[in-house]
Amino acid sequence: MVKAVVGANWGDEGKGKITDMLAQDADIIVRFQGGANAGHTIKNKYGKFALHTLPSGAFYDHTTSVIGNGVALNIPKLFEEIKSITDKGVPMPKIKVSERAQIVMPYHILFDQYEEERLAGKSFGSTKSGIAPFYSDKFAKIGFQVCELFNTKEALMEKLERVCVQKNVILEHLYHKPALNPEELYKTLMEYKEMVEPYVCDVSLFLDNALKEGKTILMEGQLGTLKDTDHGIYPMVTSSNTIAAYSAVGAGIPPYEIKEIITVCKAYSSAVGAGAFVSEIFGDEADELRNRGGDGGEYGATTGRPRRVGWFDCVASKYGCRLQGTTDVAFTVVDVLGYLDEIPVCVGYEINGEVTKEFPVPYKLDIAKPVLKTLPGWKCDISGIREYDKLPENCRKYIDFIEQEIGYPITMVSNGPAREDIIYRKSSLK
Ligand code: GDP
Repeated sequence: MVKAVVGANWGDEGKGKITDMLAQDADIIVRFQGGANAGHTIKNKYGKFALHTLPSGAFYDHTTSVIGNGVALNIPKLFEEIKSITDKGVPMPKIKVSERAQIVMPYHILFDQYEEERLAGKSFGSTKSGIAPFYSDKFAKIGFQVCELFNTKEALMEKLERVCVQKNVILEHLYHKPALNPEELYKTLMEYKEMVEPYVCDVSLFLDNALKEGKTILMEGQLGTLKDTDHGIYPMVTSSNTIAAYSAVGAGIPPYEIKEIITVCKAYSSAVGAGAFVSEIFGDEADELRNRGGDGGEYGATTGRPRRVGWFDCVASKYGCRLQGTTDVAFTVVDVLGYLDEIPVCVGYEINGEVTKEFPVPYKLDIAKPVLKTLPGWKCDISGIREYDKLPENCRKYIDFIEQEIGYPITMVSNGPAREDIIYRKSSLK
């Protein structure tokens, strides 16, 4: 059976921890979209790790880590990441890379940098990992699938030359940068081939066989609903679909095989990069939440950038859960809120004098003001608690209130970064 672990919001909800935890009982963990542009932070017996391309199950002996066809595959980065974990004593993970995954080319990274430079103050706040140029080329049908590394030199050179003609016009006339050389790119691709060759397979067929054998497969989403190209805060989104439905496409499995969709929601909000964030807070109150947030502060796993922070947003999270097709909500990082006397929660958006609880289209977000309801805090440390009934009453009330507002069952409450820091909760909505 297939379970998906996905984010309801802007990403950084704690999917890595939840995936790592669920991976204990899974056989295969699959990345189905995105690239090395965002990270999952995992804390386990080997240390603390920020993974970007490897799925979060990479720390177990019993799991296979799969890079699906939907991923933007940066081959050297993947191998750097494998080395970074094996150097710290983690056994070499079992890896499979889809022969249909496309390769992040060196020029995708350059184009990402050049375009951000060109846009200057109007930039998208890209992590400059080449993701937007990569997906543009994929859909313009000038991308390179991993399988093409195994085609003849003539075929690969013909395509490289064709692509370089187009890229070089833009490099020369728009960015005023040096031209690409197809021969050099060919050499680079042959290095990539050597690295990736032992792991390449027909992932869709591998997963089909695994399903027939009754294996448990976890689909690990990157970022969250609000960063989905179609359903997010366009254009301040990522260049792939972050919703669970896309995992069927990005891994090559039938959509009806996805039986559980675990949507991760953080007990407050955070976002990296620019874009609408209605419940954002600023100043000292934001600094305090940022510094206390997550595990050691809300700073980007890939970039180290300070994350923007805000109160829990019921409007965005309800929408985020709906688009994911949530069967279960994992409500994370609740322990961090224990310092607050009172906790504001965003329960509506006021747009042109009218209050709505439905997440609007992007341009309306820019004029939306948060409608806040303030709930009492619990003023104590809840880390270490393992039973829902042992949580302070106000903490349970906070969780109950949010569940009612978003309308999806909160069945897991995470109260610390480690695998064991989890409380299972019975929900009346399930
Ligand atoms: P992801 O991209 O969704 O996997 O999220 P990140 O890994 O970027 O951010 C989550 C951060 O919160 C990481 O540093 C986790 O170790 C940490 N974390 C996850 N769950 C909890 C929790 O319940 N409590 C605390 N304090 N930290 C958590």
